[in-house]
Parts: sequence; structure tokens; C-alpha cells
Amino acid sequence: MTNSVTSAQLWDDAKRVIPRGASSGHRIGWNQVFVQARGAHLWDEEGTQYLDFLNAWGPIILGHSDVRVNEAVLRAVNTCDLTGVGPQLGEIELGQTVCELMPSAEKVAFCTSGTDATMHAAHIARAATGRRKLLKFHGSYHGWSDHVAVGGARSDLTRESPLNTPNGAGLHPAVVADVIVVEWNDAAGLRAAFDEHGSDIAAAFAEGFIHSYGCVAPAPGFLELLRELCTANGTVFVLDEVKTGFRAALGGIQSINGVVPDLTAFGKAIANGYSLAGLAGKDEFMGHLGAYTHEDVTIDGTYNASPYALAAANATLAIMREEDTIARIYALGERLRDGYRRAIADTGAEAVVTGLGSEWAVYFRSEAPTNFRDTMDVHTARYAAYQAHLLSQGVLETTSPTGDRRLNAATTEADIDRAIEAAHGAFAATTQI
Ligand code: PMP
Repeated sequence: MTNSVTSAQLWDDAKRVIPRGASSGHRIGWNQVFVQARGAHLWDEEGTQYLDFLNAWGPIILGHSDVRVNEAVLRAVNTCDLTGVGPQLGEIELGQTVCELMPSAEKVAFCTSGTDATMHAAHIARAATGRRKLLKFHGSYHGWSDHVAVGGARSDLTRESPLNTPNGAGLHPAVVADVIVVEWNDAAGLRAAFDEHGSDIAAAFAEGFIHSYGCVAPAPGFLELLRELCTANGTVFVLDEVKTGFRAALGGIQSINGVVPDLTAFGKAIANGYSLAGLAGKDEFMGHLGAYTHEDVTIDGTYNASPYALAAANATLAIMREEDTIARIYALGERLRDGYRRAIADTGAEAVVTGLGSEWAVYFRSEAPTNFRDTMDVHTARYAAYQAHLLSQGVLETTSPTGDRRLNAATTEADIDRAIEAAHGAFAATTQI
């Protein structure tokens, strides 16, 4: 693989034609350009191997370039590619599987990204309730539609501003007037928001387990309270399972905690890297979908339920069920978290490891955060030293000091043990800062 081109030259070439050098914000801030991916590993242009703990920010669950998934995709598209008429065959199969697996799914519609799915959820909720306002939690990311791209930017923590500011330039400033932002795990704040605005809130958006700023569990009873307040106020409860769906459990986090939402947005792990997402929910709400009339909500998209993504999803879920992938990645995740915690204890580093199943977060602070505001005081210089040391040992973790990370099922126990050894050095490096 080694040749005369370097990753640095490829970044330069990219920047000449692509703003920032890559087409998604999370992809910048790295020196590497990866040119090969297989199983648990990535290789950069120079041929250096990395153990991947990013997994494309969630989708890669079986392992990179899974031949079984890719062959299913080829078989499907060589038989019948995109027709744009009626359901695709794989759509019926996947619809049946999702409805079987996910407690809230009576009906399901497929789209291409989590951003699409949460946007459609907002549309359905507004149509179903005749209300305008949305409630969401501070720091929770639900994609980039104007409706929900509010109260989640890291700069919200440093500016003197109300929580509900748009997450970036160019987002419609008027939207914020209709978005109520509440701190995660703040039961009193949540009750107060419903007391004040309850009859105007069309939908409440929540992650069932926070991954937007690492790994933060709901306090006992918090999601149950949200469910109760939504029901009492006629508000549509939208659970964002884009990260937790098909990864925390095949039926999503809702199948673990028993809190059943009205609508569920999902994506990422369902298709092992192919672009498939969707919205599932009660018939009462999904029944608002129609086409191109002022009375109906329209979900429309040229590439919705594309046959390559459907084939990937059907193959991924079949393999996961057959191999009990969830049990495997939970065991690997536990092994890693135990090892990282031992490394923290051995080195005396001031850090905490949190997580669920295959996902974990490393916060350089004395206690696990309970909400977005808590993550304000993580020690960024120590995190940077930790991450750089891991990278130098061939372990790829996020550059964000509040980021979540995850493993895939192709990771071996030996990979985990090697990462734990590298983490010893990484935590030790932070004790001098
Ligand atoms: N919701 C959550 C919880 C997410 O983590 C993400 C993506 N990281 C999204 C929505 C948006 O999904 P997508 O990137 O597929 O648009």
C-alpha cells in the first residue's frame, strides 16, 4: 500500500476542492487519510494500521467491509436496482423485522439519514397535534434540520446566552422561539417546562441514553417521567435511537428500559455503514403520512429505502440475530471498560469511564457527568494528551473530550487487551499535565 503519496498530500488535494477537506464536520481534525478498512481495523495511506474505536460514528457494528453484507448488496442490486415505483422487495422484509424487534414500531418508513428521520418526526408531531413547539434536551444532537439543531453546540457552554440558540450559522433564527431546551436529568425543570407550555408542545425529543456528549445514562425514573408528561399533555414522545437502535439492543434502548415512545428515529447500526435510517411508531402517528396534499405529511426521497441499503440492513440484522452480536459486543465493551478503569486506578489519572454495551466515554474530570453542563469542565489538555498517545499506539479514539466511542463485533479480546495496554500509557501521560 505504501507509495509516494502521503496522507498530508491527500488532505491538501482534498482541501483544494472540498471545503475543510471533508464533507462532514466530524471528519476534520485528523492527519490520516484511510484507504483500507477491514474488520476492526483501518489502514492509512502510509500503511499504518489502527484499531478503530470510532466505527464511522456508529454504523459499523459487524466490522468494516463485511463480505457477507457486501455480497448481499451486490446480489440485490444486480437483480433489481432502484425502481422508484412501489415498495422495494427488501423494504417489506426490513419493515417486518423492525416492527417485530422494536416495541414502539407498528409502522415504519425508511429514509437515508438520522437528520431526515428526526425532521419527519417533527412534521408528523406537528400535524398530529396542531401545535408548534418542540421540547428537547440541552446538548442532545438530533441532526441538522432547523427544527432540532438548537441548544446543542459546544459553544452554548461558553456563551452567556439562553439555552435555545441555533447550533450554527445559517439556521433559521425564528425556530428557536418554538424550541424549549431542558437540562438532561433535571426532573424539576422538565415538569416546569410542561407546566408552562404543556398544551403547546407538539413533540418531546430525547435520546434514551445520551451519546451526544459521551455516555450519560438517564437518572432512574427520568424517561418514565418524560413518558408520563407527554401522555398527560398530549405531546408526541420522539425517542432518538439513531445511536442506540440495533446497538444497545436489537430492539433499541426502549426494549431494555421498557419506556415506549410514540415515534422512534433510527439509523446507523441497522445497515453496517450503508445509508439507511427510518422512523417507526404507532399507527396513530405514522398514519399521518400521505403524499403531496396539504392535509398529509409527506416523506419523499429519491433514495429512500434504496435497494443497496435495504439489502445491507436485512443482511446485517440477520447476522446479528444469528450470531448474537449484541451479547458479543457487550462482553467486549465490559472487558474494555474494566481494563480502562484499572488503568486509571493504576496510574492515578483523574478520569472516569462511563458507557453501555459497545459504547464508552472517557471524561477527564473527577465524577461522571449527569448532563451537558457537567461536561463543561473536562480537562481538555489531558484529553488531548490521552488521545494523542493512543493514536501513536495505533488506537483510534475521538478527538472530542466529550465524545462517545464504540467497538464493532470483529474486534477480538486480544485487540481489547492491546488497547488497555495502550490506555495505561495514555492515562499515565495525563498525570504530568
Ligand atoms: N440523532 C443522533 C442521536 C445522532 O447521534 C445523529 C448522528 N450522529 C443523528 C441524529 C443524525 O444522524 P445522521 O448523521 O444520520 O443525519
